[in-house]
Amino acid sequence: MALSKRFFQRTLRDGRKVHLRLFYMLVFSVLHILALVAFLPMFVNLSALAVFAVLAWLSGGLGVTLGYHRLLTHRSFVTYKPIEYALAIFACLAWQGGPVQWVGTHRLHHSESDEPGDPHSPRDGFTWSHILWIIHSARTGDDPRQLTKDIQRDPVLCWISRYWYLPQFLLAMALFFLGWEWLGSPAGGLSWVLWGICVRVVVMYHATWFVNSAAHTWGYRNFQTQDNSRNNWWVALLSFGEGWHNNHHAQPRSAAHGMRWYELDLTYWTILLMRACGLAWKVVRPHRPGV
Ligand SMILES: [Zn+2]
Ligand SMILES: [Zn+2]
Repeated sequence: MALSKRFFQRTLRDGRKVHLRLFYMLVFSVLHILALVAFLPMFVNLSALAVFAVLAWLSGGLGVTLGYHRLLTHRSFVTYKPIEYALAIFACLAWQGGPVQWVGTHRLHHSESDEPGDPHSPRDGFTWSHILWIIHSARTGDDPRQLTKDIQRDPVLCWISRYWYLPQFLLAMALFFLGWEWLGSPAGGLSWVLWGICVRVVVMYHATWFVNSAAHTWGYRNFQTQDNSRNNWWVALLSFGEGWHNNHHAQPRSAAHGMRWYELDLTYWTILLMRACGLAWKVVRPHRPGV
């Protein structure tokens, strides 16, 4: 009885009780199981792996990292509105919520970093900061939506925020029929869905969550910030440059998260490429740490 109660309800450092959201837990569990099914030999083929790689970059790299994080949350650069909307739709394919919710939660993380109001601090437990926070209700005392007035003034971003989960279903249908056509069998179509949706979404989940958990636990610091943020090379590799998280907490608006020559930051290079093509401007430069 006591164990089952602890499973459904827990108390955070600030005394607030949070409850397990069973629907979220079910969705995450099913996605993880299907991601494992994708490794059955009948579903493993080169074209499915290519679909996974391209869509991982599109949804995780261009969508969440470039779009949600550096553009919409921190306004590290400015781009044309249609590009902003396209990046937000790519991000929806990562199934991490719409722009209003994602940006609000992340801004709250910055304003309360590792303090009691932080939605996902390892000080509430490593597993909490990695995955448990997202499958519980009442993640924070404050409503993250209060921090997204700028996003909510844009009717298109509001519309995307309302229907963020829909593009994934359209993509799944398209992948099934394209994969069937390309590989000549329904199992081929299914392999594209499993790798292009389930494996990709699960891998992107953990890449993003490691920024919250591992990059607030392990790694080195270039800056003495108030929080416990760290620069973590393997998280940076998994998350298109987001693992240079201590740099990011020290200078949240900087378009570059990697600040030393060896801190590879694919997303910053993408922003520089966009600027060279005239697609990005007002790029916020970093103040690099002393050597
Ligand atoms: Zn952080
Ligand atoms: Zn941030």
